[in-house]
Amino acid sequence: MLWLLEKYNQLKNDYESYQKMAEKIIQNQNAKIVELDKKLDMLSLIVEISEYTNKRLGNEDIIFTVNDIMIGILGVTYSSVYITEDDKLELKSTNLKSTKHHYKINEFNDSDQKLNVCLVNSVDNISADDNIEIHSAIYMPIYLKENLLGAIVVEHNIYEYLNANHIKLLTALSNHLAICIENNSLYNKIKESSQRDGLTGLYNRSHFFSIVEKKNKYNQKPYAIIMIDIDNFKKCNDTYGHQCGDSVLKEISSIVKNNLRKKDIVSRYGGEEIIVFMNDISKPSYAYYRMEHIRRIIEKTIIYYNNSNSNVTVSIGIGVSKNRHEALDQVIRRADINLYKAKNSGKNRVIC
Ligand code: GH3
Ligand code: MG
Ligand code: MG
Repeated sequence: MLWLLEKYNQLKNDYESYQKMAEKIIQNQNAKIVELDKKLDMLSLIVEISEYTNKRLGNEDIIFTVNDIMIGILGVTYSSVYITEDDKLELKSTNLKSTKHHYKINEFNDSDQKLNVCLVNSVDNISADDNIEIHSAIYMPIYLKENLLGAIVVEHNIYEYLNANHIKLLTALSNHLAICIENNSLYNKIKESSQRDGLTGLYNRSHFFSIVEKKNKYNQKPYAIIMIDIDNFKKCNDTYGHQCGDSVLKEISSIVKNNLRKKDIVSRYGGEEIIVFMNDISKPSYAYYRMEHIRRIIEKTIIYYNNSNSNVTVSIGIGVSKNRHEALDQVIRRADINLYKAKNSGKNRVIC
């Protein structure tokens, strides 16, 4: 009987130790599952952001949405994205009222120091605003090689909420964002240069028409088309050389652009001709007086080139839309006819 009891105890001990071992294995497995879950969350965050950024290449609101995604998926209370402009970090998106307490960013903007990854956990409130509690923060720079393109600052109101795992995730994210920001800026540069004339910086003819046609689709208001042609430009080239001619063209273009409203579309139509689309003009005389003002400025401007100086004049023809159904071609044609009249009646004048 005794041996049976011994056997029983032996079996019971074995069972208990196997049970403990199994529990430990299960605990370990659970911890691994939690760890894997976190990694999966990180991966889905990166996948989600990369899918989004690829779809919106060239779009300016990418940064705002990336900020929102971080608050949603990373679970932080506050998130802010800075982008480098003229060697300074400029705030582009945040859900904070004030970012005064982003002392690492302020330090970077005030000195030449490198911005490094930084984890801050503080029992005291980090925020400068008494209504906002922040006790945990990560500063994550966005570098592309040695170039600082921007920075992310994520913050939480719980002390020690952010830790080394969040740094890992944000490092992966910032590497992705670096490529995304660079692609975006290259894309926008190429797009911008394909829309502009290389010499004058004005819109080129094809971009001018694509903007004007779009605007005219919804346009209910009268508009003017203005054709500006430099007088005796061939003579200017022949006397002073083509390079001087080029700088005259640049100067005239910037005078025209700087003396019009922001909403007026100015473009190099061809050679030494500039075309303007003036939308929403209260009355035709508005276009006339504006262009007469520009003509006078050009007439008085002395253009210096190397050791020579010259002054040039322009002839201007204006066409005003009669009603909103009138085709753009018709209005351009009227402007062209008026330009022709201006040339034939002595040049250096505006005809409307
Ligand atoms: P008008 O008063 O009748 O307009 O006479 P014009 O000499 O200005 O006109 P014309 O059409 O005879 O000559 C235009 C000149 O503009 C000829 C061309 O060489 C010059 N031109 C066109 N594009 C450029 C440019 O990009 N740079 C320079 N320097 N000259 C240009
Ligand atoms: Mg011409
Ligand atoms: Mg000319």
